Amino acid sequence: MPQLNNDYSRLSSAAHDFLFRDHQMVIDGQEVAADNGETIAVLDPSNGKTVGSAPAAGDAEIDRAVRAARKAFDHGPWPRMSPGERERIMLKFADLVERDRMLLAEIESVESGRVLGAVAAFDSDLSASCLRYMAGWATKLTGKTMDLTAPYAPGMKFFAYTQLAPVGVVAAITPWNVPLCQAAWKIAPALAAGCTVVLKPSEMTPLGALQFAKLALEAGIPAGVVNVVSGNGRTAGAALVSHPMVDKISFTGSTAVGREIARIGAEGMKKVTLELGGKSPMVVLGDADLAKVIPGAAMGIYANHGQNCCAGSRLYVHSSIYDKVVAGIADVAASMVLGSGLDPDSQMGPLASKGQQDRVLGFVERGVASGAELVTGGTSLDHEGAYVRPTILADVDHGMEVVRDEIFGPVLSVMRFDDEDKVIELANDSVYGLGASIWTQDVNKVHRFAEAFRAGTVWVNTHNILDMAMPFGGVKSSGIGHDLGEEAVLQNCQVKANVINLT
Ligand code: NAD
Repeated sequence: MPQLNNDYSRLSSAAHDFLFRDHQMVIDGQEVAADNGETIAVLDPSNGKTVGSAPAAGDAEIDRAVRAARKAFDHGPWPRMSPGERERIMLKFADLVERDRMLLAEIESVESGRVLGAVAAFDSDLSASCLRYMAGWATKLTGKTMDLTAPYAPGMKFFAYTQLAPVGVVAAITPWNVPLCQAAWKIAPALAAGCTVVLKPSEMTPLGALQFAKLALEAGIPAGVVNVVSGNGRTAGAALVSHPMVDKISFTGSTAVGREIARIGAEGMKKVTLELGGKSPMVVLGDADLAKVIPGAAMGIYANHGQNCCAGSRLYVHSSIYDKVVAGIADVAASMVLGSGLDPDSQMGPLASKGQQDRVLGFVERGVASGAELVTGGTSLDHEGAYVRPTILADVDHGMEVVRDEIFGPVLSVMRFDDEDKVIELANDSVYGLGASIWTQDVNKVHRFAEAFRAGTVWVNTHNILDMAMPFGGVKSSGIGHDLGEEAVLQNCQVKANVINLT
């Protein structure tokens, strides 16, 4: 039985040295505190203890960070250096992330509660992978040439071409669920395009991003290009997105805040990309291979404790196999070993905070009160950590809150179906459209569902697979634009048209 409280004697000496102290922000290549001296305590969700603090930036620090990014963009070397040089420095940055793989994972595990091995494989390795993939784009951003007709200028000849120019200063705002990865996903494509960045991570998990910014400096990224400010959303976050010197806002977080940011972006005529919430369906047809479905759908919902924007939180199972699938996933859920992130025997850590634990348990309670069958889980542990047992609510009704709203925790809502047309309708009957998966062995049905799902990503016989090469984004209330893939780099560029008179 793993320990429920993190045992800090398991930490490396590097992680010990880093944690349990006051941290500073990284602005213009310098470590700085907030002028007003205010800080935010960072808590370990396995025990509620403070494991460090970060400055609570106010308007003055946000202004300082944005001005540093502006100066670095308007006058500094980063947007002006050759693409090959940018690529080389980004590859060095990736090597440093790989060098500090375990330190970064330890920081992230302690501040977010997630299991250390998974954090190393996901946050650290995917961050290095993201930097490497995006570094390659620096040398591959090209424009086009075109022959002009210009009927109003007879006899004249022009040479015209487009360029992909960096968009400028990017304000990036990220949530707490995979904090380091989210920072890398925002910073890496912006760097490849030649932009400068001010990142504000979640107030719950700022420490990994602060360390990430120091690695950027060590790699040789010039001062002012990557700035990381810490602070609350309603103060520091709001000041950052509304700053007039910001050209682009790249936001990942809740749909409610995303909507507010879209409004602010429109007022300032800024480019805005939004990665928001989800309520992704997993549809299992009667011919599906249960050996894939049961572990695959269980991980579709329980990976990262369900704190995953594209988590498969709605499961539709054909009635011919419904009982077997529900029983199989319930066995996986009931056998998952809960424990603190630093204990190697843990398979699932606490949720990110007590507030999140209360929120998730509230959804379960209301779901059961409205008629859902609680198959397994649905409770916390008898401990102060923010643990929630992996949960299944079966035979839910499509109108229930647990089917409509994003829970962002380890709660699976299951429904049975008989008719394929009807299940497509139900799968698409959501304000969200981030991910969707179809589980079948029939290739014709694969194509039918892949086309019919209204979602940014469709998976077949799997769920939650993300990769640097694959654009990730949503439709409807799940967002606008993409992180990752070529699309992410292009969204940090603006197309510039140039015309030369050859007459
Ligand atoms: P949140 O919207 O509360 O906060 C996200 C970030 O926005 C934080 O850094 C926060 O400080 C900041 N913020 C809050 N209010 C702000 C404001 N008024 N102005 C500017 N910034 C503000 O979300 P959260 O609780 O941190 O994260 C969970 C949400 O994120 C879920 O809805 C989840 O689906 C979503 N998410 C989406 C993706 C994706 O790629 N689509 C990935 C991860 C998480």
